[in-house]
Amino acid sequence: MHELSLCQSIVEILEEQSRRHHYRRVRRVELRVGPRAMVEPASMVFSFGVASRGTLAEGAALEIRPVPARAVCLDCSCEGEVAKLAEACSNCGSYRLLWEEDGGLRLGEIEVD
Ligand SMILES: [Zn+2]
Repeated sequence: MHELSLCQSIVEILEEQSRRHHYRRVRRVELRVGPRAMVEPASMVFSFGVASRGTLAEGAALEIRPVPARAVCLDCSCEGEVAKLAEACSNCGSYRLLWEEDGGLRLGEIEVD
């Protein structure tokens, strides 16, 4: 399952940061999910519960926040936000969009003790 390996990486990042920033527990994790992240939110929450068991992130609330990515249209140069894959330019309907962000998964704010 793709979500489980993602959550394992997130927990690794949290553990690495806890050494650098000296926190002992993670209470809340915000995940910014771009249109290219291709994750299922419910599956992500479940996987996070599994991956964080016995770690400093056990019991932390996982908040999934969908975020659009910025893109520019190659046909009319209009700039806008893309909320999902295969979305056309809102101005001219072209699919030739150049993404300015990767639109993947990113760690947002975390709340720690
Ligand atoms: Zn356009």
